[in-house]
Amino acid sequence: MMNSRRSIFLVLLITLSLTALSQNQNVSQEVRDAVAMAKSQMDEGDYAFANKIFRKILKEKQVMPSEMCYYFAETLFMLEQYQNSQNFTDKYLELTGKAGDYYEQIMDLRKLLRQKVNANEFCDYCDVNGYRLAPCSNCKQLGKVHQTCHRCKGAGVTTCRLCLGEGVVIRKNQLGEDEYQSCPLCDSKGFETCQLCLGNKEIESTCEVCLGSGRERTHLICNHEPPLNDDFSIR
Ligand SMILES: [Zn+2]
Ligand SMILES: [Zn+2]
Ligand SMILES: [Zn+2]
Ligand SMILES: [Zn+2]
Repeated sequence: MMNSRRSIFLVLLITLSLTALSQNQNVSQEVRDAVAMAKSQMDEGDYAFANKIFRKILKEKQVMPSEMCYYFAETLFMLEQYQNSQNFTDKYLELTGKAGDYYEQIMDLRKLLRQKVNANEFCDYCDVNGYRLAPCSNCKQLGKVHQTCHRCKGAGVTTCRLCLGEGVVIRKNQLGEDEYQSCPLCDSKGFETCQLCLGNKEIESTCEVCLGSGRERTHLICNHEPPLNDDFSIR
């Protein structure tokens, strides 16, 4: 009884340290088969399918063989998900260092990734992660939105601050008596130009969706080519 418990403990300990050292020995047959299947899809050029298999393995939080990081990085590269691809090349190097079977390939892939990321930086049609940008739906590409002025409620004028709408102000004359004078601020009209919108009836503010850029990201991967139609609506 005591012995079997101790051996379970030992097995556990060894398992844990192997995970830390080289996780490949803990990979289940199921995962090995799945990775092999994904690899054959890659060889066939069906990276979308390979991507699905890899994501399923990740989702189920199974221990993955280190080479899967390389396969997945390559798949993501082919699907133009460069940031994610980069992450998996990092992961591969983290697991295998320079000893990995795919070290050379990973370094080549990282070189290509650098070029792609640079391409994103110089592309006008995508964000830094390579997602295509579309005209902002909130501000119609202006980067700003106009709202009815909340101080004058769109009237462009407000009650005069000085006479409070009366058109006259009361002043003490030299004898100390109240004397009515026409309001010098509003010229007796009782109202003045709204100090917030300056009479424009609306106020302009930065669009909160695109933060002023006029464009918002879509979930489409950019091909770094100009849009086909002039308005570059590509949804
Ligand atoms: Zn006034
Ligand atoms: Zn106003
Ligand atoms: Zn906007
Ligand atoms: Zn682009």
